[in-house]
Amino acid sequence: MSRNLFDRLFASGLDLARVAIRHPDGSVSAYGDLAARSGQLANALVGLGVTAGDRVAVQVEKSAEALTLYLACLRAGAIYLPLNTGYTLTELSYFIGDAEPALVVCDPAREAGVQEIAKQLATGVRTATLDSHGKGSLSAAADAQPAGFATVARGDDDLAAILYTSGTTGRSKGAMLSHDNLASNSLTLRDYWRFTADDALIHALPIYHTHGLFVATNVTFFAGGSLILMPKFDADAVIAAMPQATAMMGVPTFYTRLLQHPGLTRELTANMRLFVSGSAPLLAETHNEWRARTGHAILERYGMTETNMNTSNPYEGPRIAGTVGLPLPGVALRVVDPENGVQLANGDIGMIEVKGPNVFRGYWRMPEKTAAEFRPDGFFITGDLGRIDTNGYVQIVGRGKDLIISGGFNVYPKEVESEIDALEGVIESAVIGAPHPDFGEGVTAVVVASDKSLDEARVLKALDGRLAKFKLPKRVLFADELPRNSMGKVQKNLLRDAHKNLYV
Ligand code: AMP
Repeated sequence: MSRNLFDRLFASGLDLARVAIRHPDGSVSAYGDLAARSGQLANALVGLGVTAGDRVAVQVEKSAEALTLYLACLRAGAIYLPLNTGYTLTELSYFIGDAEPALVVCDPAREAGVQEIAKQLATGVRTATLDSHGKGSLSAAADAQPAGFATVARGDDDLAAILYTSGTTGRSKGAMLSHDNLASNSLTLRDYWRFTADDALIHALPIYHTHGLFVATNVTFFAGGSLILMPKFDADAVIAAMPQATAMMGVPTFYTRLLQHPGLTRELTANMRLFVSGSAPLLAETHNEWRARTGHAILERYGMTETNMNTSNPYEGPRIAGTVGLPLPGVALRVVDPENGVQLANGDIGMIEVKGPNVFRGYWRMPEKTAAEFRPDGFFITGDLGRIDTNGYVQIVGRGKDLIISGGFNVYPKEVESEIDALEGVIESAVIGAPHPDFGEGVTAVVVASDKSLDEARVLKALDGRLAKFKLPKRVLFADELPRNSMGKVQKNLLRDAHKNLYV
C-alpha cells in the first residue's frame, strides 16, 4: 500500500463533500474540489517535466491554489520545497543552486530574474508562475488538464519536502522530511489536540514554514475539518472569523496583537475550543492576560523545522505558562550535558535532544552536518537549551548559540529576560552577549519599555539582589521594538551585530 501522505490524507473514509477551505470571499472548496484541482495541478507538473523525486521550489504568496500545489507535488511524488516570500533573488540563487529543482514556481514579477539565475547556474531548471490570487502560467496549464491523476506510490522514508532552516548562523540547511515524518506527527497532534471534522481552524500563518504548512494544514485535513484561509495575519479579519471558528494556531505575536484589539472578548471566543501557540516563546504575561480576557488557556507547544512537533502542553490537564509541556506520544526527549552527551537530572539545564518518527532524514547534501547533529543512538541535537521540571514539563531557555559566557560563567538569557520582563513599565526584553575585553562576553539587555521614563540605572537597581552578580547586565539599552522575523522570533543575531562594539 502506498504511504504517500496525500493518499493517507485523502483515505477512503474522507467525506469529499465536506468543506476543506473557507476562502476570504466567503466561497468554499470541498475536499472533492481539492482532490480534483490537485489532480489538474499534478498533471500540469508532469507536463512541465517533473518526475518522482524531483524538487519543486515554490516562492509564491499564500493562496488556496498555492496550498493545493503542495498537495499536487505530493501526488506527483515530487519533493515540495517552499521558500520564504521575503527572499531576494540573490538568496534564491543559493537555494536553486543547492537544491537543483526541476521546476521553480514563482510570482510572475520574479520569473525573468529566476530564469537569469537558472541560466547562470546552467541547471536546466524550468519556471512557472502563480500570483497572490493563485493565477499564472501554472494555474493556466492546470486548467487545461484533466482532474484524474494516479497518485505516485511512495514509501514511508521517501522525501515529501525539503524546508530550509532560517540560517542565522552560516548557510541555510535543507531539512529533508519524509512522507511518514509529516504524516505520523500530524496524526499524533490530531489526536492529542482532539481535532475532528467539526473543527474550523483560523489559518493566518505563512505556508512556507512548518507551522502553517504542516502543523496547521495537515492536522486539520487529517481530521477532515476546514481551514479558514487568510492571506496573512490581520487582527480585524481574525476577530471577524472567530465566531465561526473552533481553533487557531499562531505565533506569540498573533496573541499580543489580538490582545490590543478592543473586539477580543469572552463572548467573541465562546465558540473556540483551542488556541495553540508556538515557533517562539510565549510570555507568561501574554498567557495570563489571554486567560483573563477570554477564559481560554493558550496551549503552547514546541517544535522545529527538522523535527516537526516535539512537546505540547496537555489538552486536558494543566497548561503551564512558560513551559512547552510534555513530550508527545512516540517522541523521546532528553536533556544532556552539551559537552559529553551525558543525560542530566531533571531540573538541570542542558541540550535538548529528541528521537522519534517525527525527526527528519538529515540535511540535503550535507552528510557531515547531518552526522554532527545526531548522536550515535539516533537522538537529534536540537540546539535548544532547556530543562525538565519536576512535573515532567519541558522549559526552553533559549538556543544554544544564544548562551552567554561571561567571565567563564554560563548565563542563560531567558533567566535574565524573565527578571527584566517582570519589572513595572517593561514590555519585553532580549538579553545578548557582546564581545567584552575582560569578560569575553558582556551581558547586555535590550529593553522595550512602556514607561518611557525608565532608564538604565533603575533597571540595574531593580535587578540587584535578584540575580547573581555575573548575570547582571553590564549595559541596559532601550529600543522601540525588538527585531523579529516573519515567525515572530527575536533575531538576536541582528542585535549582537548592532552592538558588537559596545565594550570594545
Ligand atoms: P523553526 O525551525 O523555524 O520552526 O524554529 C525552531 C525553533 O524555534 C526551535 O528550535 C526553538 O528554538 C524555537 N521554538 C519553537 N517553539 C518554541 C516555543 N514554544 N518556545 C520557545 N521556543 C520555541
